[in-house]
Amino acid sequence: MIFDLLIKNAIIFPESELKDIYIKSGKFDQIEPSGKKTSYPALSILNLREKTLIPAFTDAHTHFFQWSLGRIQVSLEQVESYDDALNKISAYLSLNPDTPAVIATDFDQYRWIKPILPSKKDLDKISTSCPIVMRRICGHLAVFNSPALKKIENLVDKRFIDFKEGIVVEDPVLKIYNYFPPSPEMINQALQSAQQECFRQGISAVGEITSSLGRKIIARASHQHQLKVKFRLSVNQQDFKNLQQGGFYPSLGDDPVSLRALKIFLDGSIGGKTAAVSFVYKDAPASARRGILLMEQNELGELLKSALNDHWKIWIHAIGDRAIDLILSSAKKLHLKNTENIRIEHFELPSPEAIDQVADMGIQLCVQPNFINNWSFPGQLYQQVLPDEIYRFNNPLKEILNRKCNFCFGSDNMPVNPFYGIQGTVNSPLPVQRLSLTEAIKRYTFHSARCLGDTNRGKIIPGFQADIAVLNQFPDENNLLQIEVEQMYIDGEKVYDPYGES
Ligand SMILES: [Zn+2]
Repeated sequence: MIFDLLIKNAIIFPESELKDIYIKSGKFDQIEPSGKKTSYPALSILNLREKTLIPAFTDAHTHFFQWSLGRIQVSLEQVESYDDALNKISAYLSLNPDTPAVIATDFDQYRWIKPILPSKKDLDKISTSCPIVMRRICGHLAVFNSPALKKIENLVDKRFIDFKEGIVVEDPVLKIYNYFPPSPEMINQALQSAQQECFRQGISAVGEITSSLGRKIIARASHQHQLKVKFRLSVNQQDFKNLQQGGFYPSLGDDPVSLRALKIFLDGSIGGKTAAVSFVYKDAPASARRGILLMEQNELGELLKSALNDHWKIWIHAIGDRAIDLILSSAKKLHLKNTENIRIEHFELPSPEAIDQVADMGIQLCVQPNFINNWSFPGQLYQQVLPDEIYRFNNPLKEILNRKCNFCFGSDNMPVNPFYGIQGTVNSPLPVQRLSLTEAIKRYTFHSARCLGDTNRGKIIPGFQADIAVLNQFPDENNLLQIEVEQMYIDGEKVYDPYGES
């Protein structure tokens, strides 16, 4: 037999001995200790000279489409103050005076010197003719200037709009590009650039949450072989109902783009003090001291039952303990079967009892270790808004592991960077959050892939798909933010090689 590719002298993390890896038809085949006198023939050979390999990452919770477009206009992820954010938008508009709209993305006022919410008035000072939207990092809230408000006012449910302050929440924000459609050139540039960034971060597959427009564009680009990243897509409740009525089922196969899940929201965010909790937020407005629940038990129960019966996976956004408990009590009340197809997104503030019940029911969890890095250190958001005993049990990944839950990692694009997330849990400020480096990498590879339904990805063992990231150094607790991905392979095919000759 002639193999397609032989990767020689590789260190497969966390092992230390050198290995030769043979790849055939996109899969790992033989894996042998290096230095054997005879090797099998292969069409191409890559000598890694003791470089480290890991399975490529699967980011199980992304908003790739929105993120891709945000990156090529104005990204506010790194700005340190409100003034900086406004200046960045002004500068973009001066350089691109003909742009039909400016969608500035990913501001997080809690990471600014002074945490204030942007205002319509300030955005109107930048332009009263070009629509400007400033979208918060959570993706659920945005501030619009007057021309932007005018554009959507007759198209969306007015309940979501505060015309005075220019604040828009939920549905219209999640579908922002439906109202301000980007040009085909912009889309193309955005997808390519975002895919390169995924490769730079070692990511080969994502669990994607986007609008119908996003799904269409991703599917089209993938059919035209412009996208190599694997997309496991979700649909919202309305699209799900249409699919179900039309007799459609989720896909099981290994297509580059495949539909896997129904995505629903049960509560808001900790930053917005809208995650549904059983305690009272510090300094909460009297109107919503314990956050908000977006669904009633009966509605949730019926939806879960019907989706699980048809073998859909269901990804449920539930951050606060009250939202999490609602899922568990609904599942128990209706004696739901196939509960392993339920996946709770975020799961930031569970009670210890809820963790045990999740383990008993085999419910999956998709947690964000990067949230620890973003908001869990002393003085940061979680400590600012949560009572002390709740703060000390936020994102308790170690407890989740100890109590034997099925869980995987996703970034929720805050930011897309697995090693940043891994660094969060490995060096976390609270012992209940701390995982070992080996465990954390496993969660971001094998467990994330499996959670999306890809049971033959995320490990470097014979029979698995050959998805690999080649690293510039062997990871340890102290170098995680310095690690660079030097090459990427998906299904045994080289997709990223910035230092290569060709
Ligand atoms: Zn999300």
